[in-house]
Amino acid sequence: MVILIFKCFILHELMDSLYLFFVHEAHAKNLAFKYENGLPYGKCNLITDKIKLEQVLTNLIKNAIKFTKNGEISYGYKPNKNTLLFWVKDTGVGIDKKNHQSIFERFRQAEISTSAEHGSGLGLAISRAFVESMQGEMWVESEPGQGSTFYFSLPFIQTRSA
Ligand code: ADP
Repeated sequence: MVILIFKCFILHELMDSLYLFFVHEAHAKNLAFKYENGLPYGKCNLITDKIKLEQVLTNLIKNAIKFTKNGEISYGYKPNKNTLLFWVKDTGVGIDKKNHQSIFERFRQAEISTSAEHGSGLGLAISRAFVESMQGEMWVESEPGQGSTFYFSLPFIQTRSA
């Protein structure tokens, strides 16, 4: 069972802290690293489980750096109808179309019940399960040799910036 704690928080701060956490690792591999905020700064942009959102983005950025030798990693979010669309994009090895589903399914049950609690990398199966538990969807667009973009959407309950 996934327990969610919904709170409202500052998305810009989450984007900044991910940047500070990964920038050295990305630059050490000579990769450009950047992000985009798709909403103006607000004290309360989004109501969702901040920790789970951060874990999912951390996992995707970690993978992006791991599977990229040259080029650039970028991430961000933007409003898209009644959802907020997040992405993590790399110029890495890419993923063959035949694996676009299976990468989210490997060891799904075993992973969900164990690694989430053991502080190991979440893995894509758990990342997708977290997103789905927050009423969102996750998918990948990727070409071998061209890079990958992982997307996920979350319901966007617009709040008034306090
Ligand atoms: P792990 O990285 O521990 O194998 P994940 O669930 O995070 O587990 O990823 C599953 C697989 O999906 C990886 O082994 C890799 O083959 C592929 N993959 C994930 N992210 C990327 C990426 N950004 N670029 C290329 N392949 C990726």
